Amino acid sequence: MPFKALSLFPLKGSHLVLYYHRVGESGAEFYPDGIQSAELLQAVQGFQELGFRFCSLSEAYQKAGSDRELSISLTSDDGLASNHDIVLLIAKKLGIPLTLFVIGKCLDNQALAWNHKLIQIRRHSTEIELQSELVKLSSSFQISAEGSLRQKLFSVTDSKKDELSDLLWEIFCPETQSEFLQRTQPFLSAAQMQDLQDNGAEFALHSCSHADFSRLSYPQMLAELKHNQADLADYIRQPSPFFAFPYGRECSRKLIPKLCHDAKLKAALGFRFRISDNRRQSALWQRIPLENGDVLSLEQLLLRPTARLLRAR
Ligand SMILES: [Zn+2]
Repeated sequence: MPFKALSLFPLKGSHLVLYYHRVGESGAEFYPDGIQSAELLQAVQGFQELGFRFCSLSEAYQKAGSDRELSISLTSDDGLASNHDIVLLIAKKLGIPLTLFVIGKCLDNQALAWNHKLIQIRRHSTEIELQSELVKLSSSFQISAEGSLRQKLFSVTDSKKDELSDLLWEIFCPETQSEFLQRTQPFLSAAQMQDLQDNGAEFALHSCSHADFSRLSYPQMLAELKHNQADLADYIRQPSPFFAFPYGRECSRKLIPKLCHDAKLKAALGFRFRISDNRRQSALWQRIPLENGDVLSLEQLLLRPTARLLRAR
């Protein structure tokens, strides 16, 4: 821990929420961002040594602002299989609960969400090839002519994103999506979800299709959450009343309390954590990433969140 000697006073009473996607040495071809298992273990143990107590999001929300202990939650997005194969062992060893934000359509490896399709499409194509296909498809999908490849791909409306990614998959990828899913099993299976649940993990929402909520209408947002809840009900006893915005892209902050109320959620989570966040029973909570080689730097934990708080004043 680089900041062991520092006073952690600014963090007291401000519940921290960490998140990651993939853990371990394998699976990078499916999801390039990730954290090594040794890094995760070191991070969790480091927080425990500093006096942080790990608790589930449900418990943290109930207690928010009511005590001054150092508390923290470990969460993961997209429901990748490494949560079972690797993280569960670490969680059991250290006695920490997990909160997993899962994508409705991907449960039990039934389908790929469009962000995962794009990763495979980009692995099997060059930027020039992809750009040239986007030019051909631009009028049918209203693809922006300006910006980077990513900006062009993300310019497609939400309702067309799967159609576009399916088309590009057909053009560039060597096997069908079901063959790919069958072979690689990237997401948690029904049995793995059951085992995680039996070992204290809670499951929460990450939308049905990994949608960008900054670009959806209110009815589309609500539909994404309700479908996600219905899909989850097939696999687990009781979804946890939390939702993590895919890509961390929040909808208008004014809409968040209404969205949470209408979808029977306690809070929605973004990833622009500021010192002072997550203290009261607010409908918007924020998280800190535990990946991209940026694990637990002083900047991540104190400096950047403090700067965000000062800017917001
Ligand atoms: Zn995600």
